[in-house]
Amino acid sequence: PSMSTQKSAPSVMNQHFAPVGEQPTMEQYQHGVQVIDEDKEFNPNLSTYFQLEKVTPAGFNYHIISVFGSQSTGKSTLLNYLFGTDFGVMSEQERRQTTKGIWMSKNKRGVDADGGKSMADNILVMDVEGTDGRERGEDQDFERKSALFALATSEVLIVNIWEHQVGLYQGANMGLLKTVFEVNLQLFVKGRETIPRSLLFFVIRDHIGHTPLVNLKNTLIQDLSRIWSTISKPKGLENSKIEDYFDFAFVGLPHKILKPEAFQQDVEKLSLRFNEGYKDRKKHGLVDESSEPILLPEYHRRIPADGFSTYAANIWDQIVHNKDLDLPTQQELLAQFRCDEIAREVLVGFDEAIIPLEEQQALDITSGKPKIITGLGQVMNSARSNALSNFETAASRYHKGVYARKRTELEGKVDGRLKALTQGQLAAAHKAGVNAFSDAVSAAVKDGQKKGAQYDFAEIVIIEKKNAITRFEAEGMAILVKDASWSNFKQELNLYRKDLDEVSAKLRKDEMRRLATRVERWVRSRLGDSVGLEFNKLGSGRAGNGAPEEGVKPKTEKDIWDRIWDVFTEMVSEAEKRFTERARSFDASPEEVEIGLWRLRRKSWGVLHTKIDEEVMEGNILLKLRENFEDKFRYDEAGVPRIWRPTDDIEGLYTKARESTVTLIPLLSRFRLSTTSSPPPLDAWIGIAPSAVAAADEEDLIPIGGVDEEEGKSLEEEMTILNDAKQQDLTVRFKKMADGVFVEAKRGALGTVSS
Ligand code: GDP
Ligand code: MG
Repeated sequence: PSMSTQKSAPSVMNQHFAPVGEQPTMEQYQHGVQVIDEDKEFNPNLSTYFQLEKVTPAGFNYHIISVFGSQSTGKSTLLNYLFGTDFGVMSEQERRQTTKGIWMSKNKRGVDADGGKSMADNILVMDVEGTDGRERGEDQDFERKSALFALATSEVLIVNIWEHQVGLYQGANMGLLKTVFEVNLQLFVKGRETIPRSLLFFVIRDHIGHTPLVNLKNTLIQDLSRIWSTISKPKGLENSKIEDYFDFAFVGLPHKILKPEAFQQDVEKLSLRFNEGYKDRKKHGLVDESSEPILLPEYHRRIPADGFSTYAANIWDQIVHNKDLDLPTQQELLAQFRCDEIAREVLVGFDEAIIPLEEQQALDITSGKPKIITGLGQVMNSARSNALSNFETAASRYHKGVYARKRTELEGKVDGRLKALTQGQLAAAHKAGVNAFSDAVSAAVKDGQKKGAQYDFAEIVIIEKKNAITRFEAEGMAILVKDASWSNFKQELNLYRKDLDEVSAKLRKDEMRRLATRVERWVRSRLGDSVGLEFNKLGSGRAGNGAPEEGVKPKTEKDIWDRIWDVFTEMVSEAEKRFTERARSFDASPEEVEIGLWRLRRKSWGVLHTKIDEEVMEGNILLKLRENFEDKFRYDEAGVPRIWRPTDDIEGLYTKARESTVTLIPLLSRFRLSTTSSPPPLDAWIGIAPSAVAAADEEDLIPIGGVDEEEGKSLEEEMTILNDAKQQDLTVRFKKMADGVFVEAKRGALGTVSS
């Protein structure tokens, strides 16, 4: 490419700050960016420049090269030719210093004439203000500081020198080199292991050619060694050699003004050496081949491009305040700063994906209706892996220890949020699952009842529990976070199972209640019939008098209670059998069955008692007594109705029948077994309350005298069917009624006589 388009010196040199409120543009950085100005201020827009030049995302794929040398030795000119930059150069007429502070510009010569890549990516050259004592006086301070800055940041230091300066040991360049060596040693005191070697690249200008390059090189090496020997070395580095820290390279360039074409040609050739040539080379030997590559990986400072501006600013801050420059510490600090920044950046993306879900979940929870968020697992996984992999890409380039720590920190933050989401989701799945399970079991039971068939409650529970667990597991699997050791739902599943068991126990209890109600109803209807029958038998007064039928247990009025008790206990034990069988079929526990049976016996007793009370109600019992009396009085032993004659002993028969029936009243007043003349062993029969009985089980139970001691009612009282007053009343009424019958009989007898 033609070099004739070289721009003239820029008129305004200080326009490196982007105007406030305006987007910075490339035009503002036409001449590069002034990293450090003449007041030793660091430019805060360096990162903007990196952004504009698209260097920021380059990682380690960039190179910093600094050029040193006396004032007006054509440094800027060389850089402009070599890298296509537009640094200000002194005009031929004025001969006044142009470059102030340190400028930086990106290489503009990316491609060669054939369109191929001729130079490495992202070469950034720093044009360092030179000293010659004329413009800046004896400002050795800036020279020292800029050297330190360049060494801390640059892979290659180009030393620009006139051929006629070679060998002038006392010259300005030698002073500069001495400074460079000294500050380099200063850096090495604290960063022995971490400071890479640098390349000192001597560019000998106006090389006429009379003295071969190799001679110039030897002279320079001799001078460098002499300088090295004169500088005082810090403790521990007394015996170090200059080659321990630097590689050297040399090149001669023709006179730019006298031999412009040759100059251009050689610059062109030189530019090729800034290609990435990573081939092996002698570690300590000097490079003499004119085609040796210049940018070796071993020179790289290993500061990621996105952290360079921060690093450079911190370094400069240390330098300018004359603090000890401790590069390893600086790199660690940079790593902390940048890792935090990168973490913040990746969390922005994470938040975008996660915050809406967190808000939705929080809303659902406060409204008391936790909902399962669909697609949660996918969002969590991608948000997490994006955050972590983006962090890794950018942050892993920094100090390994710091990076590892910050990654753990970030993971902790991300996982804390995802854990909360996961728990919320599992809680919602839990609640929904338990409700669905309960509903499904109830629905299946209702369905079974409708069909009237003996539905299998245990089977229903097993099927629905399996469904419920499958659903929960699916929800749990769907939100598993990859590569996150905390992400599982074992504990939640266990809790869920426990809750399902609890709910099914409750449902089983309900089912037991329904069963108990059915069995009780059965007892009530059967008992009603049987007890009614026993009382009806009272109407037949001869039952107690006549001879028993063949093979049949003699029935007497006296053992009515025995028969009732037998019928009752037999029927209840039949009911108990039904209850037990059915309850067992749906996996009721022995305790639950025991409680159910206990309740059943108590309730059955209540049913019996009610039935008896009904039977002895005034009208009913009086009717029975009348029937009993009439049967005894109006029928003879053979069951034939008597036709009263005046000769009959009506009074005698009347008295006998009446007294016989009257004895029934005290008999019916107390539930007593004739065999023992005591109340039936109700307390023993009901049994003591099972230990597992709960308050809820007792809620609807009526206290039973003699069984529930604390009720203050005795078994005797429980067994009292008619109290004394009622007995007396009944006796009086019965006798009146009997009297009526007697009078009627008497009249009937007289009637027979008169007719
Ligand atoms: P800097 O101060 O080192 O950056 O020097 P400049 O690049 O500004 O150039 C200073 C002067 O030297 C300018 O007038 C250039 O024209 C002139 N110049 C540039 N290159 C060469 C060269 O190769 N040989 C000679 N003799 N002069 C040069
Ligand atoms: Mg210059």
